[in-house]
Amino acid sequence: MAQHGLSLRHRLRLTLHAVRAGMTRFVGNRPWVAGVAGTLVALAMSILTAVEVGEGRREMLEHARQTSQNLVSIISADLARNVEIYSLSLQSMVDAARNPDTWTLPVPARQAMLFDRATTAAFLGGAYVVGPDGEVAAAQYDDANTTVHLDDREYFQVQQRNPAAGLYFSHPFMSRLRGGKPSIALTRRIDDAQGNFAGIALVAIRIEYFQHLLDSIDTGEQGSVFIGMADGTLLAHKPVDGRDIGGSVAKSPTFLPMTAHDSGSYVSVSPVDGVRRIFTYAHVPGTPLIVAIAPAVDDVLAPWQRRSHVAAALTIAFGAVFVVVSWLLAFALRDKQRAQAALLRLASTDPLTGLSNRRMLDKRLDDEWKRARRDNRPLSVLFIDIDHFKRFNDTYGHESGDEVLVAVADCIASVARRSVDLVARYGGEEFAVVLPDTTAQGAFAVAEQIRRKVESRVIVRGHEAPQAVTVSVGCATARPSAADFANGLALLAAADAQLYVAKNEGRNRTRSAQWDEYSTAQGASSTGAAL
Ligand code: GH3
Ligand code: MG
Ligand code: MG
Repeated sequence: MAQHGLSLRHRLRLTLHAVRAGMTRFVGNRPWVAGVAGTLVALAMSILTAVEVGEGRREMLEHARQTSQNLVSIISADLARNVEIYSLSLQSMVDAARNPDTWTLPVPARQAMLFDRATTAAFLGGAYVVGPDGEVAAAQYDDANTTVHLDDREYFQVQQRNPAAGLYFSHPFMSRLRGGKPSIALTRRIDDAQGNFAGIALVAIRIEYFQHLLDSIDTGEQGSVFIGMADGTLLAHKPVDGRDIGGSVAKSPTFLPMTAHDSGSYVSVSPVDGVRRIFTYAHVPGTPLIVAIAPAVDDVLAPWQRRSHVAAALTIAFGAVFVVVSWLLAFALRDKQRAQAALLRLASTDPLTGLSNRRMLDKRLDDEWKRARRDNRPLSVLFIDIDHFKRFNDTYGHESGDEVLVAVADCIASVARRSVDLVARYGGEEFAVVLPDTTAQGAFAVAEQIRRKVESRVIVRGHEAPQAVTVSVGCATARPSAADFANGLALLAAADAQLYVAKNEGRNRTRSAQWDEYSTAQGASSTGAAL
């Protein structure tokens, strides 16, 4: 049981190790992955921050709208309650005025009869009963100037003309009864017993009442709050701007949407000061009044803006550092990979000719031998040696000798061109060619091609007369699956032996030995004409 647990842990560790090694290899082979991954992570972080910041903005605006809505509800309820009280007062005044007994009473008793139930609120401008000719028949307070005529007033004429007018809200006017104080009037019609117009009951409200309602509301630096009538008549406004109380804002684009619904919210830019505000409004039930609160978007978003600037700056700074670091890492990885590749190349390349070196030859020979045995395919090698090279070196100098080595190397590489072919400098002026999947005949043909190419192309020059360079080639071919005693090095030795034969027979020629039953080029040979 314990053994089982141990082996499981062991297996897990092996798996983790393999995964880590795989990932390291994956990134090691593709350094840009580190840079791209870093950039993507930074980008994802930025997007998340942007979404979060955007959500914060939305919440901020929604919160402001909620607050406005609450304030609008409070003011609206206050207005509705007061209007209801005024309406009841008016009704009791109408009832008392219609009673003929009221008018036969002495003045103090009549006053009590008419106005006892009339309210005495702070901003109430007074209650009055006006006769059918527009003269004040009774006033709640004695200080009112009751000699005035009111039959030209809108609130009088509406009631006079329309028996069904009910509770009527007047537009603002300068009170004649109370020395010109701006007021609005609430009126009700008084009918006589026959249903004829017998005057009006009137409650005057000083316009300051509306302004007073708005005084305690904080609208921020650029916000505004407003009480008006459904037709756009302004009753109170904060902050007080150029517009007159009693004037009309009916045509203002910031007001127009308020006429569409009972309540609502919208954003609008003021044509007066160009400030963008969030308007939240409600019609006061049972009245023609509208209350609206409009904090400025900039004021609402100011704290959010400060926070989002900090968030944006931090995100950009950290993101940039992250991206830069991940790309630095990627470039460092790439440089390391390149350096490793260069080292690997150096370790397997001959510096003078650029061909593979002996080390590489040994390795490939071994690999190809195994592959040929596995696939049951023939494998050929050539051993090439430059003829009388010592003489060239001695006569033309070492430098010319090196040039010849490079020229011969190019000739060999240009003939053995298949991607699987390997051309290596074995050492000194000796070269080896590995030809996988090549028969003795094929190898012999390649060797001859090389020999002829060198003979015709490579000329050694110097102070002495130019001279053609030749090579001798030994070929060996094997089918490793059949040759159970041999290996790649033995095959190379066999090629070397054939080279020795070629040298002995006079140089500038190719010699090939039968290595197994598939070889058909036994004893084949070719001799250059030059020697
Ligand atoms: P042959 O092969 O035809 O029998 O005669 P050879 O003169 O080519 O034979 P040998 O193998 O005795 O001579 C090899 C000479 O090649 C020795 C040396 O002068 C020269 N040699 C070996 N390596 C280099 C090299 O890297 N550069 C130059 N310039 N010469 C080299
Ligand atoms: Mg030699
Ligand atoms: Mg030689």
